[in-house]
Amino acid sequence: MAEPFQVTFWGVRGSYPTPGAQTARYGGNTPCVHVRAGAHDLIFDAGTGIIRLGKLLAQARKPETNPLNLTIFFTHTHHDHTQGFPFFAPARFQLTTLYIFGPKSLNEDLARVLSLAMLPPVFPIAVDELPCERVVRNLNEGQVILFPRADDGPRVLWSQRDAAELARYSDALNVQVMKSAAHPHGVFIYRVNFQGRAFVFATDVESYVGNDQQLIQFARDADLLAHDAQYTDALYLRAPVPRQGWGHSTWRMAVDLANAANIKQLALFHHEPEHDDDALQEIEGRARQVRPDTFMAREGMTIEL
Ligand SMILES: [Zn+2]
Ligand SMILES: [Zn+2]
Repeated sequence: MAEPFQVTFWGVRGSYPTPGAQTARYGGNTPCVHVRAGAHDLIFDAGTGIIRLGKLLAQARKPETNPLNLTIFFTHTHHDHTQGFPFFAPARFQLTTLYIFGPKSLNEDLARVLSLAMLPPVFPIAVDELPCERVVRNLNEGQVILFPRADDGPRVLWSQRDAAELARYSDALNVQVMKSAAHPHGVFIYRVNFQGRAFVFATDVESYVGNDQQLIQFARDADLLAHDAQYTDALYLRAPVPRQGWGHSTWRMAVDLANAANIKQLALFHHEPEHDDDALQEIEGRARQVRPDTFMAREGMTIEL
């Protein structure tokens, strides 16, 4: 029998947090998505959405007495995707092990970039002062992160070189990596595969004329795709300053990609901070007219795959 595979959105807002009554329905926290696949917990990005997730995980799993293994994947290290990390409660327990994966950016290792994101004097504690155990590793395109068994840590393999090993664990959870140049300094797109189902996380990407063919292949037939949809055509093309080239897509680009890749459900993601709930609801309505299996990602929402 297939084990549970759930995707929960904890932060859906792009660029900066937008607290307040006008954004309460869709949510104002910056990107964080929790994937629960069988016994494994994967977290994608550590925007401010990770703070509440961390509190709930710490309450439920009691890392003061029970070992807790979590894996965090960073798409990239822009501030809106890392700013919640210093407040991630499970990191404050000695029995927590955090496996942290992501890209090397501008020739800096992921571990160093994270340490720069929480460093005195701009932050009261440094990363090395956190009591949890940490395994931080840069990833490359073509690698597959395999979770062979419930209690094991992840293993980093290569899709071709380790094909036989991957085939041996074809029913186990694995995460594939695609490197994209569709965002300033580059970004990783992840595909989570579990027992015949797939979730693709493609935030902070700008599409291309004729669509992103590499992403279409990578995301093909996924059950759920969360895709950057920060802009309307008006913001992208006109503006007051056109936002073409800033590394984000329009909702129409997300819809076109989902159609071309035969995606079951499309979640529009990385909402424009200038859009309040009414604006997002209107865009959601327009997108659903064009592609019914589409919704605006909303904080607290869980999708079962
Ligand atoms: Zn972002
Ligand atoms: Zn970014």
